[in-house]
Amino acid sequence: MSRSKVEKALPGDRIAISEEFLPGEHTYESGGLIRAMAVGGVNRDMKSMEISVKPSAEVSTIMVDDWVTGQIEVAQSNSAGVKVYYVNGGRMDKDFAGTLSLRGFGGGRGVRRGPPVKLGDIVRCRVFSLVNGIIHLAIDEDDMGVVHALCGNCGRPLTRGGRDRAKCDECGNVEDRKLAADFGTTPIRP
Ligand SMILES: [Zn+2]
Repeated sequence: MSRSKVEKALPGDRIAISEEFLPGEHTYESGGLIRAMAVGGVNRDMKSMEISVKPSAEVSTIMVDDWVTGQIEVAQSNSAGVKVYYVNGGRMDKDFAGTLSLRGFGGGRGVRRGPPVKLGDIVRCRVFSLVNGIIHLAIDEDDMGVVHALCGNCGRPLTRGGRDRAKCDECGNVEDRKLAADFGTTPIRP
């Protein structure tokens, strides 16, 4: 098997004609052509004459229900801008930014709380809509929310102090956040 360089395929890409190869994993056959079903590297098995796609950790597209990990680069009261670094745990190769809706957090229910996210926080979010070409993100699920944050007082990493409360072991500072279930554990799961 030649391993000169990995040929990349996007979903729908024509990777072979049916006479040359048999459709393998993550491919489909249509009208005499074999096409890729996933983003990934094309693999040709010359023994079985099968062509398949090995889904790549690198993703080039974002879809509804994907989860992303990124950093808060703009924080407002109702929304925050998130620079996306990982999609479904795979490193993002493009420059994407999403908008995290913060409605329903902070205020209401009579409990006074600080903002659910702050500038510089690393957050894991669910993509819930792509309307108007904007990546709309949410953090309501248990697994979603802040996964890493620094103390606003002294800059040390915060640890979990409660369900939605982070604390600084260094200076005793306590900050409210919408924390992901695994907040404070290392290594950070992207
Ligand atoms: Zn501190």
